[in-house]
Amino acid sequence: MSNYEYLLSDINKINGIGTKTAKLFRKKNINTIFDLLWNLPRDIIDRSDLRKINQLQIGKIQTISVNVRKYNFPRVRNLPNRVLCEDETGKLDCIFFNSYEGYIRKILPLNSRVIISGKINFYKNRYQITNPTYLGNNINSIKKVDTKYSLTEGLNEKKYNKIISEVLNKIPDLNEWLDINIINKFENIKWKDAIIQLHDPKNLNKKGSFYKRLVFDEILSSFLINSKIRKSVKKLKKIKKKFSSNNIEHITNKIDFELTKDQLKAINEINDDLRSEQKMFRLLQGDVGSGKTIVALTSILNVIKSKFQVAFMAPTEILAQQHYNLAKSLLPDNVKIDILTSKTDNKIRKKIINNLENHQIDLLIGTHSLFQNKINYKKLGLIIIDEQHKFGVKQRKKLSDKGGKNCDILVMSATPIPRTMIMTIFGDMDVSIIKSKPKNRKEITTLSKLDKKIEEILAFLKKQVKNGNQIFWVCPLIEESKKVDHQSSVSRYEYLKKNFSNKVGILHGNLDKDRKEKILNDFLNKKIDILVSTTVIEVGIDFPNANVIVIENANKFGLSQLHQLRGRVGRGDKEAYCILMFKSNLSENAKKRIKILKSSNDGFKISEEDMKLRGYGDLLGFKQSGIQSFRIADPILNEDLFFLAEQEVKRIEVTNENIDNYMPLLKMYDRADILNDLV
Ligand code: ADP
Ligand code: MG
Repeated sequence: MSNYEYLLSDINKINGIGTKTAKLFRKKNINTIFDLLWNLPRDIIDRSDLRKINQLQIGKIQTISVNVRKYNFPRVRNLPNRVLCEDETGKLDCIFFNSYEGYIRKILPLNSRVIISGKINFYKNRYQITNPTYLGNNINSIKKVDTKYSLTEGLNEKKYNKIISEVLNKIPDLNEWLDINIINKFENIKWKDAIIQLHDPKNLNKKGSFYKRLVFDEILSSFLINSKIRKSVKKLKKIKKKFSSNNIEHITNKIDFELTKDQLKAINEINDDLRSEQKMFRLLQGDVGSGKTIVALTSILNVIKSKFQVAFMAPTEILAQQHYNLAKSLLPDNVKIDILTSKTDNKIRKKIINNLENHQIDLLIGTHSLFQNKINYKKLGLIIIDEQHKFGVKQRKKLSDKGGKNCDILVMSATPIPRTMIMTIFGDMDVSIIKSKPKNRKEITTLSKLDKKIEEILAFLKKQVKNGNQIFWVCPLIEESKKVDHQSSVSRYEYLKKNFSNKVGILHGNLDKDRKEKILNDFLNKKIDILVSTTVIEVGIDFPNANVIVIENANKFGLSQLHQLRGRVGRGDKEAYCILMFKSNLSENAKKRIKILKSSNDGFKISEEDMKLRGYGDLLGFKQSGIQSFRIADPILNEDLFFLAEQEVKRIEVTNENIDNYMPLLKMYDRADILNDLV
């Protein structure tokens, strides 16, 4: 057994933890000794405040030095044992539940002077301490400050403190995995000592070198794995794709705008990857409306020109449909394109499966259905995943495997997360970033209105419609039930229809494909002026003529989500507006969030502020998505350590040989299992 394995062993290995106690721990997700070490002190108990009995404060934890005067052991079930104590100023009862007489006699010998502490009660005219903590008989030798942990029910403090101090005592010395230059930055504190310091009550809320070292370890463990995945992907050799750089003109000839500098740069980076013999594993990052779809289409065309097939995966059916329409209109006529979603009927599905296997389809657009088991591509050369910020490292790895040997991977994300988060979540990939927005983009004016001012909103919208503009009206989930969600959007729809001479459409999850398509077409062809919808429009959808978005119940959304929604407008050259509706007076936090949103149209800035308000783990549901999270490292607060870890991983050049050095780290931080799947 390597010495770190003690830390990975089950908590029932600890003295004093039997099946029952272990169960209590497991409820808190503490399964191993290592887990236990991460249940961090919440508070400290200061036992240094030595008092006389007549100075005691009820309700506080205090320490006294008393003489033990009299025992009372009733020997009746449920009646507690009592010990009467006193000092020069008064009397105090010690009450013991569940303690044996022998034990009490031992810690509080009759007529001796002892120091005890505990929470002070007052009962029947006398001070009391229930289950006092015995501190010895010499005030100078007692440990004055104790640690308080968050405990599960059924586990008392004393027992917990005993357990944790045993564990802290038994932490083995581990071989240092950090480089000397790194550990120097943390005052050469070893992992073991850092953990011990972390539990030292003196260090509560302190974030000194010991803390930084632990944060660094955590980041490093994550980055090492990312780097290892990346290397193993790069090792795979593929057939280089061959295509002419002029292909792009097929597309640019059909659009009436110039590509931005960053779009061109991204296209070039992707082309280089496609032409290389290493598998592409690239993230294309760009704020909403930065024009990622065009970049995707040029890559698609190049791959098809080099005689490969492409799968383009969208998160929703509506978006798949829209991509399909756009691809049809921008790609050359001889490119064979089809669409497959969960709603595609069986006959057509069979035909598509067949055509894929015969390379009768060049580009298949769709939702998750694109990668079901029955579906086999004849010659898949590129997978594009749109807006899939919720894909974890392992899922991407799986997809890449499924794509086969010659398949490149491009992931597009509109989630403008800080660099430290990109490094964490997409650290296994190369990254292209589109920063510059298309020239014609206007700042979007963001307003907030209470629900009861809806008349004002209507008046404003009527003016907009009169000028030929179109409007999104978003009704978010109100209850966790689809039905209610549906009802609220339907009644809003009815209401708006009355006000806008029937030129209103509604889009929600329950509609079938044809119906959805018709409504979207009606909106595109301006047969309707207002599109009421649930949040299905959040991701990706593109209607440049819509310049106002109204968001009901706006406080139900996170900042980044609101920014995404807002990004649906302001794509054409008209003044754009985002109106946030609220039910009643706003909380301070809600006010802060609106202020951030109003003050900035920059997704990066907003997501950073969002993280500060909500914590990074909550951002866009990363927690639910199974993407690795950190125990103490924070991509905002520990930015410098993230960058340091990035540098260090580059320096290390992790290989199959030197990875062993880091095994304790990877195993302890639970990152190692993926290693088995890597070459
Ligand atoms: P996103 O990056 O959010 O996916 P889209 O690809 O949907 O953005 O593009 C948003 C809108 O901007 C589309 O209407 C698209 O045609 C348009 N667009 C893309 N690139 C440019 C550009 N360089 N100049 C002007 N408009 C552009
Ligand atoms: Mg998009």
